[in-house]
Amino acid sequence: MSAPGDTGRGPADAPIDLLDLTRAGIESLVQGWGYKPFHGRNLFKWIHKHGLTDFEAMTDLSKPLRQRLAATCTVAPPRVVLEQPAPDGTIKWLTEVGDGQRIETVFIPETGRRTLCISSQVGCALDCAFCATARQGFARNLRLAEIVGQVWYATRRLGVAPSNVVFMGMGEPLANFEAVVATIDILRDDYAYMLSKYRVTLSTSGIVPNIARLGIVSDVALAVSLHAPTNALRDELVPINRKYPLEALVPACKAYLRGDRRRRITWEYVMLDGVNDGLGEAKQLIRLLEGTPSKVNLIPFNPFPGSGFATSPPERVEAFRQRLLRSGLVATTRKTRGEEIAAACGQLVGLVQRRRPPLAGAAARGAEGARP
Ligand code: SAH
Repeated sequence: MSAPGDTGRGPADAPIDLLDLTRAGIESLVQGWGYKPFHGRNLFKWIHKHGLTDFEAMTDLSKPLRQRLAATCTVAPPRVVLEQPAPDGTIKWLTEVGDGQRIETVFIPETGRRTLCISSQVGCALDCAFCATARQGFARNLRLAEIVGQVWYATRRLGVAPSNVVFMGMGEPLANFEAVVATIDILRDDYAYMLSKYRVTLSTSGIVPNIARLGIVSDVALAVSLHAPTNALRDELVPINRKYPLEALVPACKAYLRGDRRRRITWEYVMLDGVNDGLGEAKQLIRLLEGTPSKVNLIPFNPFPGSGFATSPPERVEAFRQRLLRSGLVATTRKTRGEEIAAACGQLVGLVQRRRPPLAGAAARGAEGARP
């Protein structure tokens, strides 16, 4: 269908997956064909607001445009191969992303909220000591279509869009910067998911230069996987700390808030028995976060086979939390959801092809971790 020269595409080319384009991308695609940007906006809306994949059903697009779309484009939703519902209402979806690789998406219903936890990479390269995804190694970044497709799919499947989206699934979102920022654009777009900046949360292990880059293009909520109040301990638990230590990380996070008093950083802190859960660490944490608008989210460690770590007893988690509260910090304990289906934090492993055996180092760290 395409005339030579205009898009450079012929019928023999692979179709463009429109889930791979932001609104601006779709607008410029149709503009290149001589249409107005609003035609692209309508198309974008049909895809994300109404969940259509069939161009023929997009009734406010002209027939020639629909034909052109049918000849050159596609809307290819993710291939979900398994849906696992848990008794608490949590649902986990496994999606095939080629090469036998799978990623996971988790839906977490709460009163007044429908949170979707999405993945940004196949596996993860960061090797955090207590994380199941880390044991799988890193395969590749997900494409925009594969990230936003998780939201597209969940919305269709549930019949309602999520109220909150968190980048807390597999992978390090700031290591897949462009695709993650494009996903955020679509999540925030009024012609798509219409989520406010308070309802999109990006969780990072602390890729400091990309925290600054994110601050330039976005203002979504930032959660940071802190897990330790000192470099010595964080170097072991979150090895990216060796590259971007606390004295770089904390100021970068504070700068991200740009002095907006309504915003604060959420610090995620996984409670590991005898490793980072003592009152001494609580005091160090208080000192570390002084002057940074903060909320500390204590996460009970979700064990998995061979992790080498144990969950802190609930009394110790509560004592830690009380210590933080007394200092004036906001501190909450995350409720574990979807345990029965291994959908809880840090348990997402998909069936990523193992690139390397479990590290001897991880086991060694685990053994150290068991010492009080
Ligand atoms: N790469 C991003 C997203 C990771 S998942 C990041 O590091 O922030 C979201 C949170 O779950 C992170 O804080 C991560 O450290 C935490 N987590 C990982 N494994 C866990 C486990 N086994 N139990 C509890 N939380 C875990």
